Amino acid sequence: MNSSLPQFATDRSIPAAWQEDLELAGKYACHGPRYTSYPTAPQFREEFPLQDYLDWQARDQGSARAPLSLYLHIPFCHDICYYCACNKVVTRKREAGNDYLRRLMQEIEAQAALVGNRRPITQMHWGGGTPTFLDDAQITELMHAIASHFHLLDKGYREYSIEIDPRTVASSSIALLKGVGFNRISLGIQDFDPLVQEAINRIQPFGDVADLVNRIRDHGFRSLSFDLIYGLPYQNRASMADTLKKVIALHPDRIACYNYAHLPERFPSQRAIDRLTLPSPEEKLVLHQQIATTLMEAGYRHIGMDHYVLPGDELAIAQTEGRLQRNFQGYSLQLADDLLGLGVSAISHIGDYYLQNARDLPDYYRALDAGGLPLARGCRANQDDRLRRHIIMTLITNLELDLTECDQLFGIDFHQQFALQLEQLAGMAADGLLELEEDRIRVTARGRPFLRNICMPFDAYLGEAAGQGVRFSATV
Ligand code: SF4
Repeated sequence: MNSSLPQFATDRSIPAAWQEDLELAGKYACHGPRYTSYPTAPQFREEFPLQDYLDWQARDQGSARAPLSLYLHIPFCHDICYYCACNKVVTRKREAGNDYLRRLMQEIEAQAALVGNRRPITQMHWGGGTPTFLDDAQITELMHAIASHFHLLDKGYREYSIEIDPRTVASSSIALLKGVGFNRISLGIQDFDPLVQEAINRIQPFGDVADLVNRIRDHGFRSLSFDLIYGLPYQNRASMADTLKKVIALHPDRIACYNYAHLPERFPSQRAIDRLTLPSPEEKLVLHQQIATTLMEAGYRHIGMDHYVLPGDELAIAQTEGRLQRNFQGYSLQLADDLLGLGVSAISHIGDYYLQNARDLPDYYRALDAGGLPLARGCRANQDDRLRRHIIMTLITNLELDLTECDQLFGIDFHQQFALQLEQLAGMAADGLLELEEDRIRVTARGRPFLRNICMPFDAYLGEAAGQGVRFSATV
């Protein structure tokens, strides 16, 4: 280990190198959006005029052959993980999958007719819930339905990924997933410490995960991703050091590290987590820094806010080339402008429109059984939204913004239009979170954990969301 890096003591002392960061965390602690879209989800409205979107689709001929990204939501899980904030249905009933698939395939057919069935699918992601709640026959049937209505690629660059729950996937299913066309697998790890796993009701011993990783490698998947969470009950520096050691030993290509947001009033399963067992906000920031330092020392590159990738990974190359994007699935390569979300609660971003499906299964089923689309909420980005989206998404992916380019793209005078925001950023620059140049905003390494804070001054809807009682997660 590099001796210049802070050592992770098991006591509660703060490494001197991070003392200043902790003071900043106290200063900037607030609640804010994760910016997986802009406008953010609280701006999606039920009274959104769906007919406008349908008329626009009927007129839009330009994207008939443009690449398209698909997201499929499979909401079922065998058991509840207490920390979970996903849209899921906990059940062991197999027939639940059949009822759902019938409606999902109906939606696939209707959506393909609307957005165009000749568009090459350059990216596809199955998330949940637990996609592998579906058995092999159901997975095959669903992939066949997608292939019947969209143009799946069997050559050229494509990213077809699926989230796997290591506790429930059958050994034989790995070969099937490869066979039906997936080339990337994402594993929910969260933490390897047995005490933490017990406290979150997600027991998955390291040995089982290691065996699964070997099977995935044997089948030649292009990429393997891990999801980790920091801020979980009983996590401390020693347990995190051990988890990271095990993660590094398994050598995933990508690692996403999410900040646990404890919002038991919004997510009832989180009430099973004792607040007193959670690390303090200061300790969470130490864990965040520990993760970043350890993974970068192990050779990973830090991408955006919370992703780490091996240097040869496409995401690392995409960040260098400015082709990184952030959407509802986190950071990814920009392989298509439009994202079509399918399944209960799924969100689409097509042209200037954001559209979300019904969030509850009965509503989703009712809409499809009535012969309609299950769209429940939406919004259309206007010119000001497009400008602010460019600013926020560029900062959160590329960590720097070219102000002259903004002027040229949107016909504005950035310094004039955002004088107030630049004043706010000047305070952050004084704290070392960013550098303000005449024609550029550059986020520093110290500013990375505060990226959401840096974007928030450009969000025109924060005041409105606060007035509506919207509660976002803590930014740090
Ligand atoms: S974390 Fe994943 S597996 Fe656990 S309940 Fe949530 S969606 Fe299901």
